[in-house]
Amino acid sequence: MKKKNTVLFLGVTSILILISVQVFIILGIWKQKNEMFALKYTMLSKEALSYINRRMPTDGFDTVRFLLTKYSEQANKDIHALKDQNALAEKKKEILNYFTKVVNQEQDLSGLLSSFFGRAGFENKFNFSIVINNLEMIDIDTILVYRSEDFLNRRVPDRTGKPKSAEITRSKILVNWFRMEDNNYRFVFDYFIDFSDKQKVILKETSATLGMSTLSILLVGIMFMITFRNLSEEQRLSNLKTDFINNMTHELKTPLSTITVAGKTLEMPQIRNDDAKILETAKLIGKQSVHLNQLINMILEISMWERTQFQLDKKTVEIEEIMNDVIDSFKNGGGNNASINKKYNFSGAKVDLDVIYFTTLLNNLLSNAVKYSDKQPVIEIEGFAQENNICIKVSDNGIGINRIDQKHIFDKFYRATTGNIHKFKGLGLGLYYVKKIAEAHGGDVTVSSKPGRGSTFTVTLPNIS
Ligand code: ADP
Repeated sequence: MKKKNTVLFLGVTSILILISVQVFIILGIWKQKNEMFALKYTMLSKEALSYINRRMPTDGFDTVRFLLTKYSEQANKDIHALKDQNALAEKKKEILNYFTKVVNQEQDLSGLLSSFFGRAGFENKFNFSIVINNLEMIDIDTILVYRSEDFLNRRVPDRTGKPKSAEITRSKILVNWFRMEDNNYRFVFDYFIDFSDKQKVILKETSATLGMSTLSILLVGIMFMITFRNLSEEQRLSNLKTDFINNMTHELKTPLSTITVAGKTLEMPQIRNDDAKILETAKLIGKQSVHLNQLINMILEISMWERTQFQLDKKTVEIEEIMNDVIDSFKNGGGNNASINKKYNFSGAKVDLDVIYFTTLLNNLLSNAVKYSDKQPVIEIEGFAQENNICIKVSDNGIGINRIDQKHIFDKFYRATTGNIHKFKGLGLGLYYVKKIAEAHGGDVTVSSKPGRGSTFTVTLPNIS
């Protein structure tokens, strides 16, 4: 148990560490790819701007300049005619809205950049955004219309207004800041681009790494599961073996100590004169010796079965006849305190059987039905023939078997927990035999049971009639 827990702890910890390391690496690669992407497009934007500057007749803002010059002349007049502060504030808002609308709708820099990117072989779609930093109306005096908070903290833009190198912001790429000015206004804004399919492109580039690392985690997980399962199975088997040895010792000791006591009894002088007592004790010794012999044979047989296949000595028999024989002799032996109801009708069906092994099979089911009972045992044996199979059902009114135990009762040495406290004696081999014998005949055995409500064991065997 301790070993299993240690393996579980180490396995889970190492998988968690592996996942953390992989996540850490992937995040690093993602960040790097992001930066590479931004850098690539920053360089490209820089190239594009210098190309536009050198080779194009326009910087993309000609229409903007024209419209703003026309608008600001009248806007200046309007401002100076206003006396009321509220009206002035309203007018400033209106001017800012107009500048914002014109610079967004009438600029053509996006078109120029897009065709430059296209020619350079980069077809990724992008969105632009313009952030206004400063807007002043100039007449006799200068009236500030709008100023963004961080504008004053920035470098004083150089007067030439020439494109500067693009800068990288957190998610967007700053292509350039622009300054426009004439007699009536002064206007400064930033132009950003943002690639809509950036995440998709990066995901595509990192997909191989992502796939490999998921696969490696998966493989390690599977390996761990297999190792852990093997270990659990090993431990289960070792527990079963220990239980078996304890149970076996207990089982062997009982007849042995009875024989020892009986032997001592025979030595007593007062017994030696009593013929009836001698006979009774001798019978007891005989009975216990047979039981001891059976137990030893049972143990020897499993190891033989492990090494070789069953050697069946099959005969074609009418199943009903064999069933009657086995049940009748069981009634006169171990099952004499049980009420046994025969409810079968096989319509003369024939089966290829090793009668001795089949007797063991049925006897094991019947004696379990009596053994695992906490009241007067009532056993019902149903049976019928189908086209290919014959079906035998042995039902009892005993203690029943819970769902978990039902999965294991046919395993070698397995005993339900109640069995281990020696309330019910046994070696955990009876049902293992039943299963092996049924399978060796080309059939099977299943169980259905509810704790406290009894159990039904169903055996199927091939019908050859
Ligand atoms: P054993 O009887 O020697 O323990 P078996 O292989 O015959 O071994 O049975 C395995 C376990 O299945 C038993 O320990 C018992 O818990 C359970 N079992 C078998 N038959 C019955 C039954 N008729 N009713 C309730 N439990 C049963």
